[in-house]
Amino acid sequence: MKKSYLLLAMLPALLVLAGLTGCGGSSMSRTDYTIATGSKSGVYFPIGEALAMILKQAFPGVNLNIMETAGSVENLQLLRDGKVDMALVQNDIAFYAVEGEAMFNGQKITNISGIATLFPEVVQIVVRKETGIKALADLAGHKIAVGNKDSGTYYNAQQLLTIAKVWEQVDHQYLNAGDAMKEMQEGRIDGFIFTSGLPNPSIIELARKVEVSLVAVEPDMVQKLVSAYSFYYPSNIAANQYPGQTEEVSAVEINAILVSGPGLNENDQYLITKQLFGQPNDLGKSHPRLSKMTKNSLRQQMPVQLGRGAYRAHSETP
Ligand code: GLU
Repeated sequence: MKKSYLLLAMLPALLVLAGLTGCGGSSMSRTDYTIATGSKSGVYFPIGEALAMILKQAFPGVNLNIMETAGSVENLQLLRDGKVDMALVQNDIAFYAVEGEAMFNGQKITNISGIATLFPEVVQIVVRKETGIKALADLAGHKIAVGNKDSGTYYNAQQLLTIAKVWEQVDHQYLNAGDAMKEMQEGRIDGFIFTSGLPNPSIIELARKVEVSLVAVEPDMVQKLVSAYSFYYPSNIAANQYPGQTEEVSAVEINAILVSGPGLNENDQYLITKQLFGQPNDLGKSHPRLSKMTKNSLRQQMPVQLGRGAYRAHSETP
């Protein structure tokens, strides 16, 4: 029997055991939950939809509502304010939130807990090929969408272009990813930056309609960024991820994590975590990167303290 099926087969027994040991029941305490994701042109949104499907199958009658948002910064604020139960966020931005640093201006967010690290997100710099932009320095003087100010993308764009000494020279457009891609298709901007999973289906679509190039983060910039900020890792965009992209492109990545807010109780968190990682194949179908999750990767690079329910579910993951 395949491991995942074995785990599924054992699930009822585990849940009964959890009940017997006083760890809470085997049903969710509410019928409606909400998860904050990102733009519909991103990867967070379809992952939210996949989570909703998995939960619905496991707990008929339970709805997970998917909220479209600006991205990580807004998601952390929504969690803090109890407006959503869970959120997908970048781990670098979650770190700033728990430490009260950068955009969180000394206001630490203390009421959130970690569920799992999901997958790496790459800072992708996409430009219209006809601009001739080949390197970060060439972005100077161009109209570039650098993300909505409540996204994680915006901070990655700012940190990267500042290190490349070109931030001040760029004509910044504070657009969310969906609008940026639309503007790019209509020829109103020269490029955009988006921190997202690879490949991003909306960028594939765009590259079929407009000739695009991916701008590399040169190795010396990667080095500078990785030493200045602890959550970045050297990465690359393998050849042929996008139409017309024939060569591998050097890049940087951070990790996407799943976190919960004060409204999600320990037992609900346990049940949700258990479902998510009891069916890795189902979650993997929503994005190829999710099929690579392992027990170890679930806790790596997690800046938010794991919740007790999530911790228990992780410990039971074979
Ligand atoms: N990482 C992005 C952000 O928080 C969202 C990515 C996505 O939806 O794929 O700004």
